[in-house]
Amino acid sequence: MNKRIRMAISGRVQGVGFRPAVFRHASELDVAGFVRNSSGGVIIECEGDDSRLGAFIERVQHRSPPQAVIYSVAIEEVPPTGERTFQIVQSVRSADVTVGMPPDLAVCEVCVKELFSPGNRRRGYPFINCTNCGPRFTIIDSLPYDRERTSMAEFTMCPKCSREYRNPHDRRFDAQPDACAACGPALGLLDAHGLKVECDDPLRAAITSLAGGHVIAVKGIGGYHLCCDAMNDFALQLLRDRKRRPHKALAVMFKSLRQVEEFCEAGEVEKAALLGPQAPVVVLKRKAGTALSGLVSPDTGDVGAVLPYSPLHHLLLAGISPLVMTSGNVADEPMAVDENGLGGILGAIAAVALTHNRPILRRCDDSVLKIAGRSPLFLRRSRGYVPDVIEMPVGGPPVLACGGDLKNTFCLTRGRQAVVSQHIGDLEEWRSFEFYRQAADDLAALLEVKPGIVVHDMHPDYRSTRYAIECGAAQLVAVQHHHAHIAACMAEHRLAETVIGVALDGTGLGDDGTLWGGEILVSSLSGSRRAFHFKQYPMPGGEEAILNPDRMAFSCLYAETAGDMPAIAGVLEGMKPADMEVLEKMISGKLLSPMTSSAGRLFDAVSAMLGLCTSVTYEGQAAVRLQYAATPGTPGEYPFGVAGGVLDFGPTILAIAGEIAGDAGAGRVSAMFHNTLAVAVATACEEVRQKEKTVKVVLSGGVFQNDLLLSLLTSALKARGFEVFSHHLLPPNDACLCLGQAVTALARMGQ
Ligand code: ZN
Ligand code: ZN
Ligand code: FE
Repeated sequence: MNKRIRMAISGRVQGVGFRPAVFRHASELDVAGFVRNSSGGVIIECEGDDSRLGAFIERVQHRSPPQAVIYSVAIEEVPPTGERTFQIVQSVRSADVTVGMPPDLAVCEVCVKELFSPGNRRRGYPFINCTNCGPRFTIIDSLPYDRERTSMAEFTMCPKCSREYRNPHDRRFDAQPDACAACGPALGLLDAHGLKVECDDPLRAAITSLAGGHVIAVKGIGGYHLCCDAMNDFALQLLRDRKRRPHKALAVMFKSLRQVEEFCEAGEVEKAALLGPQAPVVVLKRKAGTALSGLVSPDTGDVGAVLPYSPLHHLLLAGISPLVMTSGNVADEPMAVDENGLGGILGAIAAVALTHNRPILRRCDDSVLKIAGRSPLFLRRSRGYVPDVIEMPVGGPPVLACGGDLKNTFCLTRGRQAVVSQHIGDLEEWRSFEFYRQAADDLAALLEVKPGIVVHDMHPDYRSTRYAIECGAAQLVAVQHHHAHIAACMAEHRLAETVIGVALDGTGLGDDGTLWGGEILVSSLSGSRRAFHFKQYPMPGGEEAILNPDRMAFSCLYAETAGDMPAIAGVLEGMKPADMEVLEKMISGKLLSPMTSSAGRLFDAVSAMLGLCTSVTYEGQAAVRLQYAATPGTPGEYPFGVAGGVLDFGPTILAIAGEIAGDAGAGRVSAMFHNTLAVAVATACEEVRQKEKTVKVVLSGGVFQNDLLLSLLTSALKARGFEVFSHHLLPPNDACLCLGQAVTALARMGQ
């Protein structure tokens, strides 16, 4: 007796070779029926005897392709139809989109082998891919994932490609972006004016240009990159000058893992991250004495390494490598994705552009992470990870959470699933804000979500807040910045109980109207109470104090020395007396000097006191330089105070001023400052534990991009018997806010 079973599978099951795998299981087990994509996932009907069906169901669930992730399987019996064959049928749209749309996948090993195989018909073809690899998120127009709804729709397959595409036993069976030189996209070359250059071999021309020390633009998966020879100081200086990016680290693409190891130290976890299908930029320690230009990362001595992830990268790097590969944009603008976006780049920054005619439908920057301990510490989560679902500890109706203004991402939820957007950038740049609006509409359309609840930061002047209000949603929810940080990290770990939240951050608006950023909170998912905060100091000039860390140094010293100007001048040797007078007037007159408890500003102050950074060219620069100045393993702390809900680093500031007078090196001072923060925060957490009876400490905030502090604080807390949770799915910086906002709104609704 034959039975017929219907399986509805949700998860990341489209664009990852799921249907072909199901087809193969069916043919091997001689089961009849069909498999098709639906916008809810994948639907399978299968008919056969009990034992075959049992084996088939087992294989579908447990032998799925490497990139597939199954969230749920619903199985029901349906009447048999007497079907004899198994087929893959045309997609239908269904109302309920729970499908995990796949992120972009790096080109796989098998395809790379073909790319360089003499005699292979795709040898040297820059758009080679297969069922298991290739672009997804950046080429999909709408779901379900089928060729006619991708940017490959305009390319008609040649008979050879079409045969592979339809043959279930071929590795390109059902590979939507499949193409070859006869039928698919092709390379092109644009000159400095954006005009097409007639040229037989654009790739060769690009390599020649790079070898000649030029900066060029290269069209990638999620946008254009700016590239140059990573061993050529002159080319790097040119790129930095023209891009107006004097110091911030630039990523370097190496042709192979072996080449990465020639230039950098990489442990097993780092290597695994580099080789993963997400192909992120992984921050590694650089080896001494290599030919890599020092201009790659003047502030840190680290290297953001990435392996080629598109076939075009492989071909380019085979000609010249390593290459600097940085986002193709000017200053803070979004990365260029088409010829229009190249306007400010060609001529002004890049000599030529190596381009192609496969449109990029969605901008998606490279992801960047470090390995801290053995887990990823994201600095940016974007290509390769977006739009992966993050499962939250609470669910409810669809929510749009608008995020913050710096390093913005936003998030959409559906049930307990959250989809955090790609990196958008700093919304103050109007083009980034345009991108934000587009991306928010786009993701909502893609996921077919119409959120009735919109969540935003408490800060009324954030662009993201204004956007939230403009949405005209049925319900608006405001969430405090540092609570959102902690809630985001709680959500990652699916914690729903009361925890101690340590938010060490730049600045965010607090409940009392002052700027917070050094907070120890007692947090549940729905809200937080402030238990401790860093001692407050004025920020003379507000935003100006963030751009000029020496202002924070002055402010802290002014407070701690009770306005002893000669003593301050002794520490801040580079500061002009006239500037000091202005600052004194601002602080004593309380003019444009908002009070802040920010931990980030404390890092700024110490960095400037040591003369490491008195004005910044990128966000967090003073803290980065301070971290990298530290001599690892230096023991000891400076004095600090923990009382009355205040973490007082006044004594620390004075002790450091004394060290500077005594000519102690920055290596020792920075290391001891880090130790001091770790011990002080851990001590405050112990105080909180006395009343709150929780041993769970959750860490969030931009300061935790500092992996030295993260590891010192984690050890200090563990030594005191705490369980420590830090971010591993999202960055600890403001890119995590949206998830925290969403989960907070949902938790409040559930109450
Ligand atoms: Zn492949
Ligand atoms: Zn073809
Ligand atoms: Fe923040």
